[in-house]
Amino acid sequence: MIDCPSCESTMIVKNGINATGKKNYRGKKCGRQFVLDPLISPVSDETKAIIDRLLLERISLAGMARVVHVSESWLQDYVRGCIGTHRYR
Ligand SMILES: [Zn+2]
Repeated sequence: MIDCPSCESTMIVKNGINATGKKNYRGKKCGRQFVLDPLISPVSDETKAIIDRLLLERISLAGMARVVHVSESWLQDYVRGCIGTHRYR
């Protein structure tokens, strides 16, 4: 479920694709435009393989995020299994 980062409304409309190829969305309620970074961030299989190995080392997620240059929130999602089971569109 997508919700607006500004007002948390789930009334979201697609608003084309921006210059960097990311999907643009717009909150219907507040009119704010935003892109969904975590969902389409191109984390490579190679990076995921490194993360999988680091996970065995009991390193903190924050430390791991710094090492592999991914956002901590992405990493949390990945660890919870939200990412990886289904591929990016
Ligand atoms: Zn909004």
